[in-house]
Amino acid sequence: MRVIVVGAGIIGLSTAWYLRRLGAEVTIIDPVPALGASHAAAGMIAPAAEVVWGQTPLYPLMQASAQMYPEFAAEVASAAAVDLGFTDAGTLVCAGDSADLQALRELREAQSRSGFATEIITGSAARRVEPSLSPAVAGAVHIPGDRSIDPRRVSAALLSAVTSESGFLLIRQRAVELLKDGDVTVGVALSDGRRVEADQVILCAGSTSNAIAGAPQLPLREVWGDVLRLRAPAEATPLLTRTIRGLVSGRSVYLVPRPDGEIVLGASSREDGLSGTPAGAVHRLLADGQRLVPGILDAEIADITTRARPGSPDDLPFIGRIDSGCVVSTGYFRHGVLLAPFGGRLGAELALGAVSDWIPEGAAESVSPHRFTTETTSAYPNHSPAYSNYNPAHSTRSMS
Ligand SMILES: Cc1cc2nc3c(=O)[nH]c(=O)nc-3n(C[C@H](O)[C@H](O)[C@H](O)COP(=O)(O)OP(=O)(O)OC[C@H]3O[C@@H](n4cnc5c(N)ncnc54)[C@H](O)[C@@H]3O)c2cc1C
Repeated sequence: MRVIVVGAGIIGLSTAWYLRRLGAEVTIIDPVPALGASHAAAGMIAPAAEVVWGQTPLYPLMQASAQMYPEFAAEVASAAAVDLGFTDAGTLVCAGDSADLQALRELREAQSRSGFATEIITGSAARRVEPSLSPAVAGAVHIPGDRSIDPRRVSAALLSAVTSESGFLLIRQRAVELLKDGDVTVGVALSDGRRVEADQVILCAGSTSNAIAGAPQLPLREVWGDVLRLRAPAEATPLLTRTIRGLVSGRSVYLVPRPDGEIVLGASSREDGLSGTPAGAVHRLLADGQRLVPGILDAEIADITTRARPGSPDDLPFIGRIDSGCVVSTGYFRHGVLLAPFGGRLGAELALGAVSDWIPEGAAESVSPHRFTTETTSAYPNHSPAYSNYNPAHSTRSMS
């Protein structure tokens, strides 16, 4: 089976990874591999910390993917001989003040209802395990099981692992159009005029998937995020040993430490269409971050990155078949790193017609790309889909 994967973000690359394992010949098309949203991501693999009211259909996906992670990460790391910065040190979700603590109590109740084992601890107990926390931290939710990984290393390792195999081709071009035979996708037209044909095409082009002519017009929106990478001075390293997430005057902020001492400080969440980094967003992140961990102000700023999350109306991705030659896998919003093994495997199996029974009950329906179309319309490009439940103003209290 010859398969084209359009887009080499963490989703396209993990899809290619599973496709190769299933024996397909894979061509990946991307003008700038691994430099989209996946390049910005903090890399929290945090199903419990991501519990947000009203997102119940997301939990089984997050849990399934989190369970797949240790094996996925170990195999990718071994294939590419790269350390992916995978840690299971857990998360403290900290309250900046007593009002934030009340919000955290409600979060913890929602986590318990969703079956996650977490506990509220006092500010001083939190400081005993993370001495860099501010004395002002009013309390914290302790989540022992949450993990993190370095998404830049994951993407680089996947790219290196799959491209080193025979039967794999990377074309650094933009896909401009899906080629059709009647209603069936048979390949992709590239920006340099070439046409590449295949048995199956998988669209993993993130937030700009709709720009490809002939692609399904999904209710995607760009949710911009700004994120900083910091380096603490050598004498203060490691500043943190586990992920610190927090609410500061109601605003979300997080600090994700890497095993090499880097700390990712994020993230803003903007729908203003600005692809540059607003100074105000950086100021806000540093101000909120230092309320939880004052020592970050002594760190060096190594990198500031702004990218668009591929947002969906209900925070769930779109993974499913569009026609007998095309599968779509996008809209991973705030959870693409966490959901990479789940989405990669499901997309690959859908393309090859080989979906096995590992998928949680109801999950395939909850990620259907057709779930927002009315009965008389469809997600197909030429039918002007009307999205029955699409609310562009939809916002969540998720933190990534
Ligand atoms: C600041 C920030 C922090 C985040 N933190 C986390 C986190 O901690 N945990 C988590 O799980 N998720 C996190 N996310 C979300 C996560 O980054 C995304 O859900 C994920 O990266 C989506 O992956 P993707 O491969 O679908 O998209 P992308 O990474 O955007 O990749 C899409 C690829 O498609 C290519 N492409 C686009 N159009 C075309 C075309 N026409 N032809 C060919 N190629 C094309 C692009 O060049 C790009 O390489 C974060 C996101 C942001 C912005």
